[in-house]
Amino acid sequence: MTTLTQQEDVILRVENIHKSYGNVEVLKGVSFSVRKGETKVFIGPSGTGKSTLLRCINQLTIPDKGQIWLHGEEVTHSKKNINFFRQKMGMVFQNFYLFDHLTALRNVEIALIKVKGMKKDAARDKAMEELSRVGMDSFAQHYPSQLSGGQAQRVSIARALAMDPDVMLFDEPTSALDPELIGEVLEVMKDLARGGMTMLVVTHEPMKSCLWRRGQFWKAGVRKNY
Ligand code: ADP
Ligand code: MG
Repeated sequence: MTTLTQQEDVILRVENIHKSYGNVEVLKGVSFSVRKGETKVFIGPSGTGKSTLLRCINQLTIPDKGQIWLHGEEVTHSKKNINFFRQKMGMVFQNFYLFDHLTALRNVEIALIKVKGMKKDAARDKAMEELSRVGMDSFAQHYPSQLSGGQAQRVSIARALAMDPDVMLFDEPTSALDPELIGEVLEVMKDLARGGMTMLVVTHEPMKSCLWRRGQFWKAGVRKNY
């Protein structure tokens, strides 16, 4: 039975999301909710719609049908600027998407200045704080080409965290990494989960699921099982 408290705790609600590309129905009525401080992991093979689902959640892709709610506010069909919601949903991609011509520090602070309108000094302090949180403060002046994949992914996590998101969306955060670099990224994610961050993680690999102390572990292909 769902209690009122549980409902109030829900940060992200996804309801009956459908998305097709041509004749291929990728998402067939996906529904779930994520409560504050919960980590939900979706596992499914390549091509099952995991990225499409995350893209629908932050409206990089517009679903054909269904609704997304963040803190009880509808994201889909919202009159509010979609950038408002995107700031509240930190996205971490498989391939990091850092700016190659900017240092780690600049990569983290740039959205704080350009999107949040923070003053340079405050943005720098905040960016350093987030780099410390992922253990990358000593690499602040390094360019992405001077970082390992694991380090680059940690910087991209810091960049998402800097926006003070309500929920973090991870799209296969370790699948582009050499095996020996996966652990450092999982450690950062585990710390975030322990610290009460709300997280949605999609992956095609089990990701040492025992890491997830809290929340539900969903062993299901996204496409088939909703
Ligand atoms: P996953 O992330 O689980 O590997 P995706 O969400 O990337 O899966 O893709 C699910 C299916 O949708 C795949 O068959 C893919 O080819 C198709 N697809 C994804 N994005 C597009 C697009 N922009 N145009 C056409 N087909 C797409
Ligand atoms: Mg994908």
